[in-house]
Amino acid sequence: MPDGRVPLISGNWKMNLDHFEALRNLQKLAWLLPKDVYERVDVSLHPPFTDIRTLQTSIEADRMDVLLGAQHCHHEVSGAYTGEVSPAFLAKLDVKLVICGHSERRELFGENDEIVNAKVKAILAHKMTPILCVGETLAEREAGETEAKVLGQVAAGIAGAKKDQVASMVIAYEPIWAIGTGKTATAQDAQDVCGAIRRAVAASTDASTAGSIRIQYGGSVKAGTTAELMAQPDVDGALVGGASLDPDEFAQIVKIAAGASS
Ligand code: PEP
Repeated sequence: MPDGRVPLISGNWKMNLDHFEALRNLQKLAWLLPKDVYERVDVSLHPPFTDIRTLQTSIEADRMDVLLGAQHCHHEVSGAYTGEVSPAFLAKLDVKLVICGHSERRELFGENDEIVNAKVKAILAHKMTPILCVGETLAEREAGETEAKVLGQVAAGIAGAKKDQVASMVIAYEPIWAIGTGKTATAQDAQDVCGAIRRAVAASTDASTAGSIRIQYGGSVKAGTTAELMAQPDVDGALVGGASLDPDEFAQIVKIAAGASS
């Protein structure tokens, strides 16, 4: 459980929900979550780009405490990058958190550690918070290479960022074999890796920076697995894919995380 850190539950909607469906999900979530829940937990939603403006106006009009997020951005501010979205455009839409280095982006779109690091810096430069995703494949886990892989991705991802910027970041530990598969790492596995990430950040910065950074677990998180995950000292929240598409399930996850922090 967070040590003075506010837990963060993030819903990654991936390429699901058009802007009408996204608005319906947001409204249902607003109805399901009591206002005071946001005093104990931060909640971010990461819809597809085409939904962001719609959610932004609704969040603003209803004075909702949900944080608007994005799933990705380019690292350049403008230019000949057909199909890409600038971090400056996201910042203008009041986006607060941007996922980068998600395993699907790494695997399907060729994003390597260098590109991910450039995105981290661009997101920070636009005063948004990167959610830096790291994680090992099943083969790497079975070969005993989990820490080497994950800590290598963390070091590469935060390279060149200032300590106060690192302190503001979120790292999501997402074992690739647990994403969208229904398989969840045990709470102890999640703690072991999240603890190793925090120690590595402390070694490369200092204890106070490592104590401020928030580390999420992601990989088939459901309401039924949240309490045990959140009870771990170095797990500060969850990055939730599939279960975030169902407002009832996602609201349950948020409420459990809020309970865990009170
Ligand atoms: C994710 O999208 O980052 C994720 C963890 O998905 P799921 O919860 O569906 O495994």
